[in-house]
Amino acid sequence: MKKQLIAIAALGLFSACGTKNAEEMNPFFSDYHTPYGVPCFDKIKNEDYLPAFKKGMEQHDADIDAIVNNTDAPTFDNTILAYENSGELLSRVSSVFFNILEANSNDTLAQIANEVTPLLSAHSDNIALNENLFSRIKTVYENREKDSLKGEDLRLTEVIYKDFARSGINLPADKKERLKEINSSLASLALKFNENVLKETNDFTLVLTEEDTDGLPQGVKDAMAAEAKALGKQGYVVTMQKPSWIPFVTYSTRRDLREKVIKGYVMRGDRGNENDNKEIIGKIVNLRVEKANLLGFDTWGAYMLDENMAKNPQNAYALMNQVWIPALKKAKEELSDMQKMVNAEKGGFDIQPWDWWYYAEKVRGQKFDLSEEMTKPYFTLENATKGIFTVCEKLYGLSFVEKQDMPIFHPDVKVYEVYDGDTLMGILYCDYFVRQSKRPGAWMTDYRSEKYVDGKRQVPVVSLTCNFPKPVGDTPSQLSIDDVKTYFHEFGHCLHSLLTDVKYETLAGTNVQHDFVELFSQIMERWAMHPEVLKLYAVNHKTGEVIPDDIIKKIEASDTFGQGFATTEFLAAGLLDMDWHTRTAVQEYDVNAFEKEAMNKIGLIKEIYPRYRSTYFTHIFPGGYSAGYYAYLWAEVLDADAFESFVQNGIFDPATAKAFRTKMLSKGNTKDAMELFMDFKGAEPSVTPLLKSRGLL
Ligand SMILES: [Zn+2]
Repeated sequence: MKKQLIAIAALGLFSACGTKNAEEMNPFFSDYHTPYGVPCFDKIKNEDYLPAFKKGMEQHDADIDAIVNNTDAPTFDNTILAYENSGELLSRVSSVFFNILEANSNDTLAQIANEVTPLLSAHSDNIALNENLFSRIKTVYENREKDSLKGEDLRLTEVIYKDFARSGINLPADKKERLKEINSSLASLALKFNENVLKETNDFTLVLTEEDTDGLPQGVKDAMAAEAKALGKQGYVVTMQKPSWIPFVTYSTRRDLREKVIKGYVMRGDRGNENDNKEIIGKIVNLRVEKANLLGFDTWGAYMLDENMAKNPQNAYALMNQVWIPALKKAKEELSDMQKMVNAEKGGFDIQPWDWWYYAEKVRGQKFDLSEEMTKPYFTLENATKGIFTVCEKLYGLSFVEKQDMPIFHPDVKVYEVYDGDTLMGILYCDYFVRQSKRPGAWMTDYRSEKYVDGKRQVPVVSLTCNFPKPVGDTPSQLSIDDVKTYFHEFGHCLHSLLTDVKYETLAGTNVQHDFVELFSQIMERWAMHPEVLKLYAVNHKTGEVIPDDIIKKIEASDTFGQGFATTEFLAAGLLDMDWHTRTAVQEYDVNAFEKEAMNKIGLIKEIYPRYRSTYFTHIFPGGYSAGYYAYLWAEVLDADAFESFVQNGIFDPATAKAFRTKMLSKGNTKDAMELFMDFKGAEPSVTPLLKSRGLL
């Protein structure tokens, strides 16, 4: 059937017939016919996306028209609920396409993204600015008390109404037109920014010979040799992916090569070549100011934070500044320890950014006698997975059953059924290993969200993506302590989605305020390195020995080591983000000068770069974290404080776990975030546990 269709298309004959067949065969157009209705990845082809997007937008428009043209008076059911359930096909294709675009991209998909992004932006604008639709929504919203809307129905009505109000529906026609242009430009610029970062990340590699590898542990060398082989090169290769360059700059004795690697990394998007992002940044910042002004806000930050727990940029600045001073002080102490070591070795140089990881590791070794090479054998991917599953079992009674023969989009992907007792809570896709077609980082997404359909819970289909090193030969994938924490972190997001139990998708799982969402991921990190938990999963894969007490003590003792650096580089990025997004007028930018001034203002020392420089700050320019990078810290105040309850009652205390799950984790956005927190904690959050846990107090 497939061959026939290609032949017909190649001859250019019977195009109508060909179209019909293509439509019948497009897997997005019917049920997936798969276990649990997961996407049939094995059948989806690149050429299926564009027709599905187009038809999805048409159907969504028809759904909206049906709401608008309804002659009955607006009610919750015929307006809010109908709107909530509209555009099903479009959600189906979008959730698959954008996940694959990030996790397993290729030039064709990038091309489709370029074509479809402006269409999607215009499509969502047409709905967001549809006055007839809004007028019905507004009527339901205004009648909400009279009609005694309650619980999730009331919350959904409020959330949808606010979304419209924030998107510019009340603007005069000419301003609405301008807003649409801005949104479309922003969407295209975001794509271009991401594309540039991906190219810059892939394009820069450092090819090394045997003698360039001095100081590198065997495991790091093996991974670099495997990387070289994959790229068809001789010797060893360092790439701009964190699992590659961080071990290199941590162990390499070669200052000259470390310098090349760090400069390669921090100059991404800032080389003046065709992938340069500086001009794009200026455009994005200006368009955002213009959009914020159109919508009645002074700055983009004010617009974005209006809907968050922080409420405004001043509150976000206040928290960051409160932590900045002790963090920088600590970072300077760390620098001084490292410089002493250089001087003792008669190095004859001042520490530079490319020396930081190397000497930090040496100081760590001296202070705690704990190197990553000592811990890695205990932290294989298999062990970490067992650790996470055990924690989930002890806290929430969950079990995970690996499911073979499920449709997957890459042979590395594993699929699990997630059960609470006998109840299936969701399906989990895990895609662990680094590859060129995947963007850097680690993230969680949904293929299908939880909600109730005809009174029955629709199980979510959740995806976890990481960039862990692949197993090499007989050596399993070995994780650093940071990798393990990242794994627990992303798994926390997955749990938020898997355990949510609410009626409506818009209110489900991770669809909460930005500075609240990281509470659920970051709190999971606190179990990762807890001594009681380590004993349950950290077993040496070579000897079978459970992690000994002295290594655990060293991990504990070194837990706050390097927090001066980590907190400082994080806050530098958070403050840079907020500086970019508190501009009040459109202006010309010299991106590097702006960045330099922002860093000088806070007194960032020259030995530390912000965790993300502007030209590859994908969270904030293309991503949804604009004026929102602070949110990780905001949420850390919450998670440190919430975890205090577990510390006091026992880290697996069933009553505390039950309260955490039923009062916050499963609740999605059915209540205001601060209310949910107070329901669990019984008090407003305090910043002290955070400062204590980072060793900054
Ligand atoms: Zn996160």
